[in-house]
Amino acid sequence: MERVGFGGEHEAYRERVRRFVAAEVVPHRERWEAAGRVDREVFAAAGKAGILGVAAPKEFGGGGCGDFRFNAILSEELAAADCLSAGLGLSLQADIALPYLLANCTPEQAERWLPGVVSGETILALAMTEPGAGSDVAGITTRAVRDGDAYVVSGTKTFITNALNADLVIAAVKTDPALGRKGISLLVIDARADGFRRGTKLAKIGQPAADTAELFFDEVRVPATNLLGEEENRGFSLMMNHLSQERLAVAVQATAQARRAYELSVEYAKRREAFGKPIGAFQRTRFALAEMKTETEIAQVYLDRLLLTHSQGELDAVEAAQAKWWTTELCRRVVDRAVQLHGGYGYLAENPIARAWADSRIQTIYAGTTEVMKEIIGRSIGL
Ligand SMILES: Cc1cc2nc3c(=O)[nH]c(=O)nc-3n(C[C@H](O)[C@H](O)[C@H](O)COP(=O)(O)OP(=O)(O)OC[C@H]3O[C@@H](n4cnc5c(N)ncnc54)[C@H](O)[C@@H]3O)c2cc1C
Repeated sequence: MERVGFGGEHEAYRERVRRFVAAEVVPHRERWEAAGRVDREVFAAAGKAGILGVAAPKEFGGGGCGDFRFNAILSEELAAADCLSAGLGLSLQADIALPYLLANCTPEQAERWLPGVVSGETILALAMTEPGAGSDVAGITTRAVRDGDAYVVSGTKTFITNALNADLVIAAVKTDPALGRKGISLLVIDARADGFRRGTKLAKIGQPAADTAELFFDEVRVPATNLLGEEENRGFSLMMNHLSQERLAVAVQATAQARRAYELSVEYAKRREAFGKPIGAFQRTRFALAEMKTETEIAQVYLDRLLLTHSQGELDAVEAAQAKWWTTELCRRVVDRAVQLHGGYGYLAENPIARAWADSRIQTIYAGTTEVMKEIIGRSIGL
């Protein structure tokens, strides 16, 4: 089905992204996966190609364009090249962390941080989750105590994407624990600060090139001028403002991954023979593919509608939650079915479908679990 909402500008940009992925990601993916992290250089290459800062103002080297469909194109092209997991750090930077800076920096902070982030010289991480607080962000215990012109930060974050490569960490901290979620602030922490320590990379079942790790803050002095959002205790509402786009970004990845799994399955069903005929000749296989195609296209239509409304500045939090849980659960089903269709070859680590199966499993968990999405939607129904 032809997609609605993507015009000539988007397609020209897609070509540029496709070239970037072919030249700067595909040749390195295996090495990055073996090393457990991507090279820092891929961020600089993405910056050079104009991919990291589409939404950033032109004066800081960005594209000056708030149309999130351009961001979606990067994830779609990475999925099409079977490199979604290898490029995750780029999406975290461009789709998820950078918007916090764009929306909340003072002019002085923008001058200080945006040029490096847009060019890819500065790598961002976003640190909310802690060992004792994931879905329940309000339960974080990392403490920031004001001391003169700085905050003294102590605590531990876990599961942080880009943790090993990050130069700047946007961290959720408690500035006033007595106020619960209303006592949270966001601080931008420089990874060179004394007391900042990275853990070792967490061994995961998928996304091997993503440098997911713990971060430790041991009385790190963070200049008060690194507070995001101008005043203390606004962190929770800032996070809520940005989570919808994060969920939309994951929905884009899930839908693109499902589509790719379907395409790989069709190719395989034509090629692989059993009992003297291609496996695609079995009605059971055709039905499976028919269902994968139908469900993926329907998801794409809903998603494209949200991408359009988001580009008009009207993304609704409940609709973003709907897109997130539906597309990620769909991706899980489609990819699992694709593995089955590939038989034993679908279980080999070298096979893109096997990698997609392991890599995409996290999608129903991060950026808010399926259960949390349903809570958000359920609360909105007014029962
Ligand atoms: C690879 C990876 C990358 C990540 N990257 C980042 C990152 O860059 N930055 C960051 O801050 N975090 C990151 N995370 C953390 C991620 O966002 C959390 O793991 C996620 O929010 C879930 O939190 P949790 O793991 O503590 O699970 P929990 O909150 O402990 O949930 C456990 C189970 O309980 C369920 N549950 C919890 N609350 C409810 C409820 N109210 N109703 C019904 N069920 C509920 C959940 O749905 C889940 O099934 C990452 C995680 C992974 C694995």
